[in-house]
Amino acid sequence: MWRWLLLAVAVVASAEQFDYLLLNEGILRERLQLAHRKNDERYRRLKDLFEKSGCKGDAYHEQHVSRSRQPNMICDVAGTGESPRKIIIGAHFDAIGGDGVIDNWSGAVMLPALADFMQRKPRRHPFEFVGFAAEELGLLGSRTFVKSIPKGERQGIAAVIILDSLGLTPTKCWPNGSSKELVTAAARVADALRLDFGGVNVDGVGTTDSEPFKDAHIPVLTLHSVTQETWKVINGDRDVWKAVSWKDYYDTHRLVSALLVYLDKTLP
Ligand SMILES: [Zn+2]
Repeated sequence: MWRWLLLAVAVVASAEQFDYLLLNEGILRERLQLAHRKNDERYRRLKDLFEKSGCKGDAYHEQHVSRSRQPNMICDVAGTGESPRKIIIGAHFDAIGGDGVIDNWSGAVMLPALADFMQRKPRRHPFEFVGFAAEELGLLGSRTFVKSIPKGERQGIAAVIILDSLGLTPTKCWPNGSSKELVTAAARVADALRLDFGGVNVDGVGTTDSEPFKDAHIPVLTLHSVTQETWKVINGDRDVWKAVSWKDYYDTHRLVSALLVYLDKTLP
């Protein structure tokens, strides 16, 4: 198992140094190639990856989503430090076009890896990694998830990061679908890693699982890779393996992995 992992180090502007983990490129590539057209099979494959990453037994549960054949998939990584406030990373696993590689196996397949990394590190916050069902049917999974959080507990969520449609271009955030503080944090980490990072609003062409969180006033960051030139790839026949810009995708893997460690260190 350890051979799958690489250790990398980031230095953020404040000269604070921290290390984070990465999947080696071959393993991540193999996992991304597991994208399947059928949602039932996507669910099974993601569940298998979760299991292999320690998300089983008490650490894993499912949440029924009405009008969806698949449930939300939730992996809990308890905190080992002083903050009780949760950090949630979410990505939908259902697909609507092509092999659904970009939209959104690219995001879903990172969840088990990130859960694995955070389990291995001492951490201040508890983490939750959520594979959302039925995003393409109208954000059914994420709406169910947010609804299930009692209003009084929303303050207990320090941040939510939504990954949707990665690997078309270098990492983008959706400014209108994100909280300013979290965009700033991501930009800081990207800068430390010397990674390209920009903002592209996608309000005109679609929405994603960050919407119910934003509506509930929970701090959220939406990461994607869609631009005006590339958005036609998603939700259609062109969403297949060859649409992936591998370097950009792996860079996003680096950015997200480092960002989780950074947020764990810096968020109250
Ligand atoms: Zn999507």
